[in-house]
Amino acid sequence: MTREGMPSTDHYSASGPVAGGIEGIIVSHQANFFYVKSGDDEYACHVRGKLKKTGETPLVGDRVTVTLEPLTQDSPLPPPRSGSLALPEAISRGIRKGAIVEIHPRTQVLDRPAIANVDQILVVVASDNPPFSHLMLDKFLVMAHRAGLSPIIIINKRDLVTESRLQALCATYRGLGYVVIPTQAEPHGVKDLLPWLAGKLSVLAGPSGVGKSSLVNALHPGLNLREGVVSSKLQRGKHTTRHAALYPIAAATNALVADTPGFSYLSLEGVHPVELGWSFVEIASLIPHCKLPSCLHQQEPSCAVRDHGSIEASRYESYLRLLAECTTLYRETTERSTKTEPGF
Ligand code: GDP
Ligand code: ZN
Repeated sequence: MTREGMPSTDHYSASGPVAGGIEGIIVSHQANFFYVKSGDDEYACHVRGKLKKTGETPLVGDRVTVTLEPLTQDSPLPPPRSGSLALPEAISRGIRKGAIVEIHPRTQVLDRPAIANVDQILVVVASDNPPFSHLMLDKFLVMAHRAGLSPIIIINKRDLVTESRLQALCATYRGLGYVVIPTQAEPHGVKDLLPWLAGKLSVLAGPSGVGKSSLVNALHPGLNLREGVVSSKLQRGKHTTRHAALYPIAAATNALVADTPGFSYLSLEGVHPVELGWSFVEIASLIPHCKLPSCLHQQEPSCAVRDHGSIEASRYESYLRLLAECTTLYRETTERSTKTEPGF
């Protein structure tokens, strides 16, 4: 099913037996086992010694080739995703044992916790409570752009605002070419989102309290993810060892969603101020027409962005705020590096 303008690539339908093994995707990592999903089956896998020698470490999201190993009464039981699982239950749930013999090339890797081959980022904001913030949304869009991921904007808690307010919020971002889906975190309230998830590995991102965990629960009833689990707060601890886990969304074909946020913290560190404009789609298209190659689109002469005058006030305000933020960070970093440089 492909609607016009909708993504059509299906990265996970190819799972299943292939010559020399079974192809699947790593959906979780527990102790020394990687859980690989292939079709409806799950395989608890260790890493084949030969692969270990090459120093390759599998990541959640990796597409891998697995060879089957017998699961017998005396073979050690693979640890389940959580709690303990008796052998008959493991077998009846389709869990089998295997060895990862090959990791397929990755399209990209998202950091902290590492997830490979993410297709898209679902940037979640709330229509209210916490109040809708253009700045927050624009910052997440910048982060998604810098990670090379195409974002889908979700405006959750649609029940808290009037329809006209909701449409006004959607209009700005649809006008920029983004897909914007209003939702309410209950099974009926996420229907419009399902076609966009099919065949993709999606990761959620967004400020805390907007309803990310509630959305995962609504998409995957029965999962019972604690509210606040898909929250940036939990990922910051120094000794956090939690790995990401991917969950299939039953109502969308071959859809996987991660239970951890896409960005564990929002920092513009490393963004050169001149680069920032490229992460605002409407600014990026005008940059080539600015007179100065180092134009920051503030007070510079013959600035196409200012002269054109088409950029929405809220977006330009976000740009200026984020520009100030990355300019400060940039200065601090350059000062620090000049101070630590050895003197002559
Ligand atoms: P997270 O921090 O982004 O994971 O947000 P949570 O899922 O923990 O949700 C924060 C709060 O918002 C909880 O009290 C939820 O019950 C509530 N909430 C989530 N989605 C909705 C929604 O669509 N409508 C309303 N009214 N409340 C919601
Ligand atoms: Zn300019």
